[in-house]
Amino acid sequence: MKKEDKFKSGYAAIVGKPNVGKSTLLNHLVMRKIAATSSKPQTTRNKITGVVHFPGGQIILLDTPGIHKTTSQFNQLMVKASLSTYNDVDLILFVVDAKQGLAENDMFVLDTLKSIASPKILIINKIDLVSKPDLLGLIAKVDEKFDFREIIPVSALRSDGLGDLGKTVLSYLPEGPQYFPNDMITDCSEEFLVEEIVREKIMERTHMEVPYSIAVDVEETHEGHNGVWVIDALIIAESTSQKKILIGANGSMLKKLGKPAREEIEKRFGCKVYLNLFVKVKNNWRDDKRSLRDLGYLHDSNKNR
Ligand code: GDP
Ligand code: MG
Repeated sequence: MKKEDKFKSGYAAIVGKPNVGKSTLLNHLVMRKIAATSSKPQTTRNKITGVVHFPGGQIILLDTPGIHKTTSQFNQLMVKASLSTYNDVDLILFVVDAKQGLAENDMFVLDTLKSIASPKILIINKIDLVSKPDLLGLIAKVDEKFDFREIIPVSALRSDGLGDLGKTVLSYLPEGPQYFPNDMITDCSEEFLVEEIVREKIMERTHMEVPYSIAVDVEETHEGHNGVWVIDALIIAESTSQKKILIGANGSMLKKLGKPAREEIEKRFGCKVYLNLFVKVKNNWRDDKRSLRDLGYLHDSNKNR
């Protein structure tokens, strides 16, 4: 194509409950054209987690914090951040697991998204796990109940259907500039991505009201022997009892969190990782605005509120 031919670019948010395959999808979409090693993360703290490059366009993917029922100041900030993000994007990619179909907690998120004007595309992931008739049944059922602009079946793990997904997403994006250079696939800091991954593993694996009361802070990273990336990350709990749960008997929970977190970080950055997790109690940090700011959750415009 000629350079002046309508280049398309815009933002798409990936939404869905844990384990439906959002991270896998993001990784495989982003890595399709570019090797992990060519990424050059910059040091701004931002929600953009991936940029997918095509000859005729660019998709900027946002991985947003989830929507949850909530009371504390911190949780409300998170939900507000999610909702304002959803309103600002060009497209919402709602991901479900083909095998599970639409479950009750999917409905909660879909209800919350009803007030959002951005067009929504349904991605049915993990189609490698279901038969064709079951898949067609699910598509028919969803189509009857919801008003998705498109329903796209994929297997993120096998990179199956991702080409079509890319094309469809591009078709919904407006004409726009190439925001990011070709070799750039994220603008998150490495530390931020690591913190998000560890936080996500905590959310998925602890069965208490932990998730949004926990913060993760990467304290130090350096290159160890044989190019291993050594990461020290601090998990900040609200109470001693939370700390106990997070550590587990003889450190069992830390191991349960650390292993999948390390594996995902390795996949994401394409290098060997040694992840040290520590847990510390910080009383009431959720309502302490200064520490929220230190951890990067408050923007400057919120300073005086
Ligand atoms: P997230 O919590 O939504 O980010 O989900 P993940 O990307 O971490 O995936 C959760 C699990 O589902 C992982 O074990 C993935 O390997 C697996 N998974 C993701 N996509 C697929 C897929 O297309 N097919 C199969 N069989 N498994 C998948
Ligand atoms: Mg994930």
